[in-house]
Amino acid sequence: MFDNAEGMVFRPPSEANSFILRATIGCSHNRCSFCSMYRDVQFRARPIAEIETIIRNTARRYPDLRRVFLADGNALVLSTEKLLEIISLLKLHFPRLSRVTCYGGPLDILRKSPEDLIQLKQSGLQMIYLGIESGDDEVLQLAQKGVDSEQMIAAGQKVLAAGMKLSAMLILGLGGRALSRQHAINSARVASAINPTMLSALTLMLHRGTPLRAEADAGRFQPLSPFEFVIELKELVTHLNMQSPCIFRSNHVSNMLPLAGTLPADKESLLAQAEEAIHLLRNQTRPTYNDDGPF
Ligand code: SF4
Repeated sequence: MFDNAEGMVFRPPSEANSFILRATIGCSHNRCSFCSMYRDVQFRARPIAEIETIIRNTARRYPDLRRVFLADGNALVLSTEKLLEIISLLKLHFPRLSRVTCYGGPLDILRKSPEDLIQLKQSGLQMIYLGIESGDDEVLQLAQKGVDSEQMIAAGQKVLAAGMKLSAMLILGLGGRALSRQHAINSARVASAINPTMLSALTLMLHRGTPLRAEADAGRFQPLSPFEFVIELKELVTHLNMQSPCIFRSNHVSNMLPLAGTLPADKESLLAQAEEAIHLLRNQTRPTYNDDGPF
């Protein structure tokens, strides 16, 4: 159920069955060095009349819709008033609506007051997806995420304090070989301080047209080998210290080693699986991929 007149539509894997409502087009930040999603898309916030027309048309065909994901890259950049208006239109036209979610950049979250977030939660915004990407300040700076690790922690904690669920993402390999260990350790530190509802560890893909790919092509960024990805994943899990249950996943299609469990309960089992994979990989390799295939 896509509305894709302007550029490609992206959504988290867990929103595969949701109506993807593009309340915004593109990403207002659009500077992350690894991200190719909206590079050629001019950011704009859709006028409410345009959004209402889309909702009306969709409701005619799918009146029983229950789940809506507000796209594109950071719909939370919209004013709280506009988001509340969109959610109330969704409730009006989809009487069975049970969940609304969106991506939120750390700066978007920090710009909202605690009261704004509580109001959004009470209106039906149940979960925010936050790309932490790394908890290491050096890596965050290289990735041009626009915040440091303390701001990232504050953003994540603010979402949870409002009573919303938080699905956070990290990118394995984002620090390359040079920063791998500090990337893993500090990402674990930041993720643990936030203690999100869900934590996904994705694997870095070097997409054409991104600054990070250019750095790699010029030899200034050394991507991890498959073996090193698993070492980094193990380092990350080793240092994760969740105080309350967090669903951990590294089973995205991009990942070398699919892990899934709930932390802290499954930590030992996840580490044992990582150790087993390291043992197997010591003598064999599986290629890492970018847009052009294995490298
Ligand atoms: S904030 Fe998200 S969508 Fe925007 S450039 Fe960064 S990774 Fe891409």
